[in-house]
Formats: sequence, structure tokens, C-alpha cells
Amino acid sequence: MHFQPEEDDPKRVELSRGLPDGVVRATISYHREGGFRGTRVVPRSEAEFAQLTESGGPDSPRSNAAVRLTLSEAKDYLAQVQRRIEDLEDEIKRRHEAVDLVCSCSGRQRSYLGVLGFVVGHRRMLTDMPQETSQRVVDQHAYQCDQCGSMLFFAAGILAHPLPGGPSSRDRR
Ligand SMILES: [Zn+2]
Repeated sequence: MHFQPEEDDPKRVELSRGLPDGVVRATISYHREGGFRGTRVVPRSEAEFAQLTESGGPDSPRSNAAVRLTLSEAKDYLAQVQRRIEDLEDEIKRRHEAVDLVCSCSGRQRSYLGVLGFVVGHRRMLTDMPQETSQRVVDQHAYQCDQCGSMLFFAAGILAHPLPGGPSSRDRR
């Protein structure tokens, strides 16, 4: 949540996480009647109503039209976003705790190699040449044991890489 110009009494709140499904970005702005365009943007404490603009991803059919909200609807919207962000952070914390980077051969943490791109082939179903494949690259975050070379891979997801490391208190030897 990005409050402009300040959190205590914002004129605008820009949101990029914790949004409803399909929404990538949203802005809530605070308004009152008056001004040359009929309404003007004011600090929340002076506002009569709010406006919500949601935008979707590149292939989302969502329109970017602004929707008028009452101040309490805007407050509820922000509270829901806040709750989703907290849930997401709890989930990230849980998953961090569940990930174990320790190699069973050496009892040491695997170290982060970076992103490896795997070329994956799919046989085309609608072709006269069954050997023909279409290819795409699947990116994976890779961790490797310095001793035995065994690897651990993660698809892009909610966890940020490199991971801080699995539970260090655990002793697997
Ligand atoms: Zn190892």
C-alpha cells in the first residue's frame, strides 16, 4: 500500500498486492464535489466520496473505469486488502519454515545458483509430423549442494529467491 502524500490523511492510495483475483493494480482516490472537472482530489479527512480504479493484467478483460465508492466502502476495500496481505505474509512465512535446503548427504545448506531455464518440448497434437515439437522455456530457481552436487528447484511462486535458508537449528547428520 502506497499512501500519497502521507499515510495519516492520504489523497490517494496505490495498491499492488492483496487485490481481488485478476486485479494487478488498484488506486483509491478521495474526492469532493467542486473544481473545474466537477470533483477534486482532497485529503481523506475532507472527502465526500472515494473512487476506485482497478486494472488487470495484460490479458484481462477488466476495464479501467473508475467506480464511485462511499468512504466506508473504500475503508472496507482497504481493510480487505490489508487482510489479504497479512494472510499472504503468513503463508510466505509458513512456506519458508517448511522449505529445507539442507542436503541429506552433507548436512549443509544448498547454495543458490540462480535461475536456470529448462527447454521443455511438447509434441504437437495437430500436425502431420508427430516428431515435431513445440518448445518453451521453464525457469526454475536452483540450489546446489557444494559437496555432492544434488539440486533443489523451485518454480516462480510466492517465495522470493534466494531463500534465506531452511531452519538452521535442524541437524540432519
Ligand atoms: Zn550433498
